[in-house]
Amino acid sequence: MSSKKAAKAGGSRYFVLYTAIIIVIAVALFVISQQSKGGDEGGVSLDSAPSTVAQPVMGDPAAKVSIVEFGDYKCPSCKAWGETVWPQLKKDYVDTGKATFSYINVLFHGEESVTGALASESMLKLYPDQFWNFHKKLFDEQPDNDHNSTWLTDEKVLEVANAVVPDLNKEQLKATMDMEEASKLVGLDEILVNQFNIEGTPTIMINEVQITNPFDYEAIQAAIEQGLK
Ligand code: CA
Repeated sequence: MSSKKAAKAGGSRYFVLYTAIIIVIAVALFVISQQSKGGDEGGVSLDSAPSTVAQPVMGDPAAKVSIVEFGDYKCPSCKAWGETVWPQLKKDYVDTGKATFSYINVLFHGEESVTGALASESMLKLYPDQFWNFHKKLFDEQPDNDHNSTWLTDEKVLEVANAVVPDLNKEQLKATMDMEEASKLVGLDEILVNQFNIEGTPTIMINEVQITNPFDYEAIQAAIEQGLK
């Protein structure tokens, strides 16, 4: 190989190398810009907020922001959300009167989800003042490990209800769970689940913004602050 050819071959090698480096940098910048775009928004703006008519609502009804959780008492992530994100969210926005909080049942885990939802609707009807205590205690009862085991039974919801309402009328609660009205209220929640295309639990909505990652507290805060403007 003459020295001229060698130099040319060396040049094209460098050209290939430079091109490869430029492509890597371009791809990296694209990935970074995509990530920051998602992170800046943190949520997807929909046409409307879920209706909270006939739903449990905590907080000042005059609040400008409505926080809605689509949840399932059988869902481990919902329990985790309630224990990690919720306490801070409640302290910062619900207790201060800036936002209300509502919970809508999702039935992604079969019969046990239905039992939890029927109990939840029935407790709201019979003992509205004790609803949120029942709600929290039912999540507390979800096993930390082996959450696929059957635990959300009629016996369990009656036991939990009795723990929050010492003079509970168990027969009345069971009868209310079996009434058509309770099924209709669970059916209303299902309509909302379909209307808002809920694909995972928990799904958190701040007014009409569906939060991409429910554990991203900064994204939740940003959406609330936007709603408060
Ligand atoms: Ca409901």
